[in-house]
Amino acid sequence: MSYQVLARKWRPHDFESMVGQEHVVAALRHALDENRLHHAYLFTGTRGVGKTTLSRILAKCLNCTGEDGQGGVTSKPCGKCEACRAIDEGRFVDYIEIDAASNRSVEEMTQLLERAMYAPTNARYKVYMIDEVHMLSTHAFNAMLKTLEEPPEYVKFILATTDPQKVPVTVLSRCLQFNLRNMTPDAVAEHMADIMREEKIDFEPAALKLLAKGARGSMRDGLSLLDQAIAFSAGAVTLDAVRSMLGVADSRALVALQECVLDGDAAGALNLAQEMGLQSLSYTQAVRDWAALMHRVALAQRVPESAQGEDEGILTLAGRMTPEEVQLDYQILLQARNDMASAPDEYAGFTMAILRMLAFRPAGGAGAKVPVHEKPKVQPPVKPQPAAKPAEPAPVVEVVEPPVDSYADEGMEPAPWDDMPPEVPRGE
Ligand SMILES: [Zn+2]
Repeated sequence: MSYQVLARKWRPHDFESMVGQEHVVAALRHALDENRLHHAYLFTGTRGVGKTTLSRILAKCLNCTGEDGQGGVTSKPCGKCEACRAIDEGRFVDYIEIDAASNRSVEEMTQLLERAMYAPTNARYKVYMIDEVHMLSTHAFNAMLKTLEEPPEYVKFILATTDPQKVPVTVLSRCLQFNLRNMTPDAVAEHMADIMREEKIDFEPAALKLLAKGARGSMRDGLSLLDQAIAFSAGAVTLDAVRSMLGVADSRALVALQECVLDGDAAGALNLAQEMGLQSLSYTQAVRDWAALMHRVALAQRVPESAQGEDEGILTLAGRMTPEEVQLDYQILLQARNDMASAPDEYAGFTMAILRMLAFRPAGGAGAKVPVHEKPKVQPPVKPQPAAKPAEPAPVVEVVEPPVDSYADEGMEPAPWDDMPPEVPRGE
């Protein structure tokens, strides 16, 4: 038997097996149970969060006839009747899925809508699922509007989009809108674990956690990463295997790098960076992970309660670094991530970030006792100024000099560096 990818094999067939999107499922179920059906639904959300899956389940709910052929609209489709099976297998003539990205012209839309006027051949409802609906041309939207305004009673529209901003207000206002949320890494990892148990494949929970993080909110992406990891590991899916598949550095390597920076040990840091290269790890990914590491250190410092069960390495760094150092290194790493594309190569981009961290250390850092509950002073950002020479401490140390809006992507505000104590250089 040919291998079926996990995302397809484990696609939920009813509301019970849906992972996440509880708010949408509850509302749809309620509407079905009360028989208060809208004629057009709009599902919004990023890719792989369940828009098509929900649409198929809804189509089954509308058309299920029950095992005895006597059932009506239900929130619990039987999965056994002809309608349910045909929709699951993608051969139900009255459930039509269209990808607007490839069928966007007005002719195609008009044709489709003309066909909508005919009663369903063998079903209660004719259900049109138009995916990526924002890709339709203006004319196509206009052609659709009229049908959306007064659709025949046996027609239901399910529109889906990753970009609702681009859908005309006139269309939005005629749909019942549901926002599908991104999957949390925990939800993705849990679902992966269930699948692995069903598939009888051994795994390390930490490996699934790492994969789930890589899915970035999309269950489908998560499951295709899991497919890859299974193929890659040829046996149990282990953390080591997933790390090397994703080119992700062990967080211990990053902690060791940070310690070299704190010790002012440039040679040691470069050695570690080279080693990471030999393991063909992605430096871009490492910069991202390192920034995430600084975030965890900052949290451990400010909100010690949140750090229970936190990694030993993180706790050590939290004790060794001042909050200013953590903020500064975090900023340098974010900047390095932005700079990566224009750096001569990834290695240069990565090592320059390390050298920059070594060059600019705020005074009283590394190993100084951290006043954990000290409130940060918020002051307006200062304009970039040249860094002070090591020998003569200057009153203001300015470190990274990005234009203020370069952090806009990260949703960050420029940090208040100006109340930093004079620089004391460390590390040669
Ligand atoms: Zn059924």
